[in-house]
Amino acid sequence: MKKITILSGKGGVGKSSITASLAVTMSKKHKIICVDCDVDASNLALIFGLRDIDYDSWKPISTNQKAYFDLEKCNSCGKCYRTCYFDAIKFENNKPELKQFSCEGCGACELVCAKDAITLVNVDNAKIGYAKTKYDFKVVSAQLGIGESGSGKVVSAVKELGDKLSENSDFMLIDAAAGIGCPVIASVTGSDYVIAITEPTPSGFSDLKRALKMVNHFKIPKSVIINKYDINLDFSKKIEKYLIENNLKLTSKIKYDKSFSDALMNLVPVIEQNEEFLNVFQKIYVDLSKEIF
Ligand code: SF4
Ligand code: SF4
Repeated sequence: MKKITILSGKGGVGKSSITASLAVTMSKKHKIICVDCDVDASNLALIFGLRDIDYDSWKPISTNQKAYFDLEKCNSCGKCYRTCYFDAIKFENNKPELKQFSCEGCGACELVCAKDAITLVNVDNAKIGYAKTKYDFKVVSAQLGIGESGSGKVVSAVKELGDKLSENSDFMLIDAAAGIGCPVIASVTGSDYVIAITEPTPSGFSDLKRALKMVNHFKIPKSVIINKYDINLDFSKKIEKYLIENNLKLTSKIKYDKSFSDALMNLVPVIEQNEEFLNVFQKIYVDLSKEIF
């Protein structure tokens, strides 16, 4: 199974919309599975029309730990309070108290406590599940709990479940989060190909360059799609020039079209909202085939 990650340095450039239409296009020729690795704001399944009740099951998962204080053992030395880099410990009335949402589970406080008064305990920081779309492929999703950390490890858990459910799939399409942080790196790790989505704006271009730099580090073949290219033709040309100068492949330029937002409102991929886009995504698929087969 080949793994294709679709990412964007900047949010809001249409990454999940493009992933959804590409997935439906590919599913007509291949067995595929989709995994939504944007665990802070997962919405890929929504674009396929899936609701929470369509999931086979949601299971809590624990990919993070938090400090637990046994105050009976504590001698009030304050070392844990002074050590915590994340300012996750209050020290009032000479006793430590955890600020739940600030603790990153790094374990430094446990190491410095001479009284063994601190233990790291697992916490359920996310839920994970999968559902079958009407297009006959599965989507694996996860939702990070409010204020919880550990999203990179949740992404790894989503991909692991995707692997288990892949059942001779030809392709796994991975919808990464925006940015270049830990969850995106976890999404890209082990991928065979990366498609970077951008838009012709200064922030889109700047974030694209950062994202490509990150992908270069992993030496993964890649190409770029400029979405809404016609909202700023001069800037699109600037991005194209950059791609040529850096020997990077431009797979497609997609025009701005209200059908994208209409499709999101109607919970369908844009190729269902507007048949004009069937050809656009067929061309992207053919181009991609040449790159990865
Ligand atoms: S380091 Fe241990 S003993 Fe010292 S204040 Fe913290 S919990 Fe108490
Ligand atoms: S585990 Fe790390 S982040 Fe959490 S309270 Fe201890 S030192 Fe602070």
